[in-house]
Amino acid sequence: MKNHVKNLQTFAVKGKTVFVRVDFNVPFAKDGSISDDNRIVQALPTIIELIRKQARIVLFSHLGKIDYKKTPEEIEKAKAKNDMHKVYLRLKELLPSALPAGYPETEVKFVNATRGEELKNAVEELKNGEVLLMQNTRYEKGESKNDPELSREWAELADAYVMDAFGSAHRAHASTYGVPEILNAENKPTAIGYLVAKEVESLGVCVNPDKHPYIAVLGGFKVSDKIKVIESLLKKCDKILICGAMAYTFLRALGHKTGISPVEEDQLDYAKRTYEEAAGKILLPVDCVIADSFDNPTDIKVVHSQEIPDGYEGMDIGPDTCKLYADEILKAKIVFWNGPCGVFEKEQFQTGTKAVMEACTQSEAFTVIGGGDSAAAAKEFNYADKFSHVSTGGGASLELIENDGHLPGVDIIQDI
Ligand code: ADP
Ligand code: MG
Repeated sequence: MKNHVKNLQTFAVKGKTVFVRVDFNVPFAKDGSISDDNRIVQALPTIIELIRKQARIVLFSHLGKIDYKKTPEEIEKAKAKNDMHKVYLRLKELLPSALPAGYPETEVKFVNATRGEELKNAVEELKNGEVLLMQNTRYEKGESKNDPELSREWAELADAYVMDAFGSAHRAHASTYGVPEILNAENKPTAIGYLVAKEVESLGVCVNPDKHPYIAVLGGFKVSDKIKVIESLLKKCDKILICGAMAYTFLRALGHKTGISPVEEDQLDYAKRTYEEAAGKILLPVDCVIADSFDNPTDIKVVHSQEIPDGYEGMDIGPDTCKLYADEILKAKIVFWNGPCGVFEKEQFQTGTKAVMEACTQSEAFTVIGGGDSAAAAKEFNYADKFSHVSTGGGASLELIENDGHLPGVDIIQDI
């Protein structure tokens, strides 16, 4: 992997306007409050470093989705729902208390604009060490299309750029790609922030493993989502332990009965071929926890994974599989885990996911979680702190591994 890291500590930006692409795409609870502010918290070290340097800091991020194919009313509704001002209020609470003692006072401002005079004026009014959060970048239709005019307008306001939005680094959008591309061409400095640096370093171990055994645990819902990562991991890993719903596609592909378990029919050939070519590197569950219904399970039992009866569906890995997988994990030096082992949202089917997490935290291995639901499970069951690294990017962490360490939003950053 190329080393793109321009050390933020040597980034000379006093009095300069630095556009920082952060990942403030936080989840919201039903009542509209922020349910997890981890992404804001994770962005603070880079912001604090830029305050220390007395840069003029402009933060920008997307929030949620806005579908421009919908009616004007629906678009307005989506915009109201994804108003960055809600994030601003939380940032305003979090940042001052995170500043180390002796730091200069700072002001955190918000601009309810993404282009034009209002944005320009707000940027111009910034004093050294002040922070300005821009309205949701996806208020601009051109953001997701990497529109050159939009990129140009933002780049013209910036003297320098920092990429710290790991969760968006797999997308070449105006804010993640277009802006740094223009600044590079103008010989203006660009850098990755502390969060992205940590992600690239930790996930880099999973891309270029320096020790073995290296074990990948792959679960979650769809095989089709993870096909490319299986192929990449087979080249690097010693073993891939398959769990979650995707196990049933593999089991069916090998000719076993899977009852009403979720199976991706169009992936059967792929699963069979991959399993055979892997020549023993892919492990499948030997037993499963099954239920008679997904929504209202009344009959729950453990069966051999090759004998799931009609009318039953696999919901979790069984106790023998938990032990088999834990033994592999305990011997490992590196573990990459993506995708829960069962329907962890339901209490009866959490055992497999917990067993894998317990083994990861008992093992001496360098342990990495990549995947939104897997990270949420680790947090919910209080294992997150015990992993070497929990990635903030679901899709981005998988793509980084698939693409041998490369992501557009990281590769565009040049150390000049
Ligand atoms: P991640 O976000 O960590 O990459 P995924 O999005 O691929 O994970 O998958 C998470 C989902 O997979 C969870 O909602 C979980 O309920 C589901 N899942 C895991 N095992 C099963 C199963 N046996 N049957 C149905 N769904 C499952
Ligand atoms: Mg998911």
